Amino acid sequence: MGFKSIAIDGPSGAGKSTLARQVAQQLGYRYVDTGAIYRTLGLLALRRGVDPEDSAAVTALLRERSIGLRYEADGLQHMYLDGTDVTEAIREPEVSRYASGVSAIPEVRDFLMEMQRDLARRDNVVMDGRDIGTVVLPQADVKIFLTAQPEERARRRCAELQARGNAVEYETVLRDILVRDEKDTSRAAAPLRQAPGAAVLDTTGKTLEESLQMVLDTAKKGVGA
Ligand code: C5P
Repeated sequence: MGFKSIAIDGPSGAGKSTLARQVAQQLGYRYVDTGAIYRTLGLLALRRGVDPEDSAAVTALLRERSIGLRYEADGLQHMYLDGTDVTEAIREPEVSRYASGVSAIPEVRDFLMEMQRDLARRDNVVMDGRDIGTVVLPQADVKIFLTAQPEERARRRCAELQARGNAVEYETVLRDILVRDEKDTSRAAAPLRQAPGAAVLDTTGKTLEESLQMVLDTAKKGVGA
């Protein structure tokens, strides 16, 4: 039989990546961060001075095949651009905006979808993103839609960026989150929405431990672990 897959979708800052990584660790699955792939293309556009909304120019960047994804000895997904590890560099707020821009281009989504499906064909995966349960892996064994109120997501994102030494204003982060939510949910190509049959889990007011328990319970039930 094939491999098991757990799809976790939701808006930015809902806790997807932290929780998905921990669920993967507990189940012995591979964690696939699809946002990191869009971010790497965003960073490439930024570095080349390409407008992220210019679909012809961005699609041309894809043909360069300079984006690489590898699982390192630490078991984690690392992203590469032209052979250089950019796993940290893609977390910059400016890259988030570029990622959101390039992700609205249908050709980009098609191209990157194949990359994502390929990963799910090779391993048991916990994959997080915006359209995993709806488009990339509609046959996933478990579909989770993880959400939290925007203010709480902004507070978390601020803490995360500050821990990385990025001085950021809460108001700026909140505005960025609201703009990205709007873009991600209203775009024509694979908008962010709940997959049919997805379990909707809200982490507002919950500690990391409580959220993890909630996600883990749903995931285990779904894969029969
Ligand atoms: O999850 P993360 O914040 O790293 O994603 C960066 C951006 O990439 C999102 O704002 C979204 O526009 C895009 N994205 C997407 N589909 C995915 C994952 C991310 O469109 N599966």
